[in-house]
Amino acid sequence: MRATMIHGPRDIRLEEVADPAVEYPTDAVVPVVSACVCGSDLWPYRGVAPTKRPHPIGHEFVGVVEEVGGDVRTVKPGDFVIAPFVISDNTCRNCRHGVHTSCENGGNWGTKTGPGSSVDGGQGERVRVPLADGTLVATPDQPDPTLVPGLLTLSDVMCTGHHAAVSARVGAGSTVAVVGDGAVGLCAVLAARRLGASRIIAMSRHADRQKVAGDFGATDIVSERGDDGIAAVKELLGGIGADAVLECVGTKESMDQALRSARPGGFVGYVGVPAGGPELPVGYMFGNNVNVAGGVAPARAYLPELLPDVLGGALDPGPVFDLELPLDRVADAYTAMDQRQAIKVLLRP
Ligand SMILES: [Zn+2]
Repeated sequence: MRATMIHGPRDIRLEEVADPAVEYPTDAVVPVVSACVCGSDLWPYRGVAPTKRPHPIGHEFVGVVEEVGGDVRTVKPGDFVIAPFVISDNTCRNCRHGVHTSCENGGNWGTKTGPGSSVDGGQGERVRVPLADGTLVATPDQPDPTLVPGLLTLSDVMCTGHHAAVSARVGAGSTVAVVGDGAVGLCAVLAARRLGASRIIAMSRHADRQKVAGDFGATDIVSERGDDGIAAVKELLGGIGADAVLECVGTKESMDQALRSARPGGFVGYVGVPAGGPELPVGYMFGNNVNVAGGVAPARAYLPELLPDVLGGALDPGPVFDLELPLDRVADAYTAMDQRQAIKVLLRP
């Protein structure tokens, strides 16, 4: 089969690799229906995170189960499944606390970690899925093809945006500011609307992303950043900051903007992968009772709640994909994301 390998900075290749097979009784083999490129894939692509040896890449995919091992109970051949971006057993102590990203037996796609010989990446034709019962979530029926992009966002970005909103305690009537207009930030807008926010300020400088944010429920757009952005948020909210600020970038600047856009007593939900050394100003947080919660999103924990809304049409994160390419153009997909020509690229094997 063909699978995407990263060899080093800006070196993405679609290569012929061994076909995956069931190696453990808890495995499933899943031909990929659709996969995508994540903003976090750009860290190794840009060389910010080192690539020590070539390895498979991609951690978001949906597919149809082809084969399962003898111990697999919750999915069967023919099931349409969503794979969260972390492998988990859904039974250990951390999973039972809803923190599947810290699964005691889990692992990551495209690495040597976790059970089995090596784990495939999501940007390929087929994937061996370890701990299939714990990791995969099946839809009740074969979904309509138009729902596939939305279902694919449940692998990562929609669940991550939701995690930001939940961590920041967004509820009915909340005022919300969203820092970051990538796919996660846009999904955070959608999550805030779903949870009943009355005011959602999307901080974005790009017209195409502002449009999606508006479609997703943003009531206001702030294009300024830094002090000007914070002042604009406060002006829209009658002089104080937001009840909830959703930090969806992960830089020092974005975290600073998020913290200072929250009202005294407000919450910052942070889900941006930290890069460039964001640190918390405890003195400022102390003085203003600004609360911070969040981290890497346990997508598997949120899937049962969000899946019915996507299947029923109440939640449609699909429009975060503004470019679709065949898998053999995966290198172009990375280029488009890297150069911000696309918000998020969907790949079809
Ligand atoms: Zn676990």
